[in-house]
Amino acid sequence: MELAVAEYKDVTVFYDERVLNHAPDVNAAFLPGRLDKRIRGILAGLNVQWKYPEHPGRIEAILELLRQEPIRGVRFEPGKAATREQLARVHTTSYLDDVFSLRDKNAWLDVDTTAVSPGSIEAAEVAAGTAVAAVEAVVSGSTESAFALVRPPGHHAEPVRARGFCLLNNVAVAAAHAQAELGCKRILIIDWDAHHGNGTQDIFWADPHVMFFDIHRASPFYPGSGNLQDVGAGLGEGTTVNVPIPGGAGDVAYLKALNEILVPAAEYFKPDLILVSAGFDAHWYDLALNVSFEGFAAMTGIVQSLADRLCEGRLAFVLEGGYNTESLAHGVRAVLDVLAGGPVPEPKVCGIEEVEEAIAFHLSAFSDELPDE
Ligand SMILES: [Zn+2]
Repeated sequence: MELAVAEYKDVTVFYDERVLNHAPDVNAAFLPGRLDKRIRGILAGLNVQWKYPEHPGRIEAILELLRQEPIRGVRFEPGKAATREQLARVHTTSYLDDVFSLRDKNAWLDVDTTAVSPGSIEAAEVAAGTAVAAVEAVVSGSTESAFALVRPPGHHAEPVRARGFCLLNNVAVAAAHAQAELGCKRILIIDWDAHHGNGTQDIFWADPHVMFFDIHRASPFYPGSGNLQDVGAGLGEGTTVNVPIPGGAGDVAYLKALNEILVPAAEYFKPDLILVSAGFDAHWYDLALNVSFEGFAAMTGIVQSLADRLCEGRLAFVLEGGYNTESLAHGVRAVLDVLAGGPVPEPKVCGIEEVEEAIAFHLSAFSDELPDE
């Protein structure tokens, strides 16, 4: 295990406060219609007052923690809005017309409770554009690695459909921009969010130049896609790699999948840029999987070492999900700490450390010998 050395790496967090203006409030008046009626019916059937889970407080919690516990080597840069041309590389123009027509409105976009508020369209354009800014920075070499602190998230957004709190597919827009404008020929996207990145998979399904590796909680967990046999099609057959895992799986499963599937896949594919769809809902506080902060840090160490070996360190993270604000904030901080040159921990199986402490605590009670001096 490598211990902390006095060598700090330069990490840039890209952030634009306009991403906070996406704030659907279910008590506001939404555009009337069939979808509104259907979702109101679903929400009325719940026993609790439903709140939009993907809210500005997610980002605020991360910023607050980074203010309280700053990391040496991490600096902030502003984001920017994506252009229509950048967005149209991964979304149809008719879809973009529909989404842009909802500017300044409250509306539902999908039955899985994806909604917009008056500031949402601009927030989504800024989220995608900020992911583009992060990729531009790592490709130009102005920073060693980058983290786009954005919302709404993107990986469920398909070419013609908003889904799962995602409007525009931020990581896909960034990858397509790197292909079209930055000279990147082979891009690896790693999605470790607890949910399958159906939108990203869909966009690059037949693209042999983008490898999509996704580890996620298996179907029927939302969105229900990402089966083992789904490996891409046509020229892209083999460049989609799905690793579905059962609920409750944790650090050991994640790290084994990364070490024994991702690492050889990446070495074979030889990317010139690595992007991470970094969701933190795999942390146990979000109740779907069992990843720890040490687990996220160890995963970052694996990905960083791949980037160093295969593509001169070019590595950009884009925030996806994570709904418990405490685990989200500490998860992001754990990633940034490793990117900045901090130590890479070796996580233990959850509970083992506590059991070892308990052994030391209890064992003397079962012996009449005096404890050693
Ligand atoms: Zn998720």
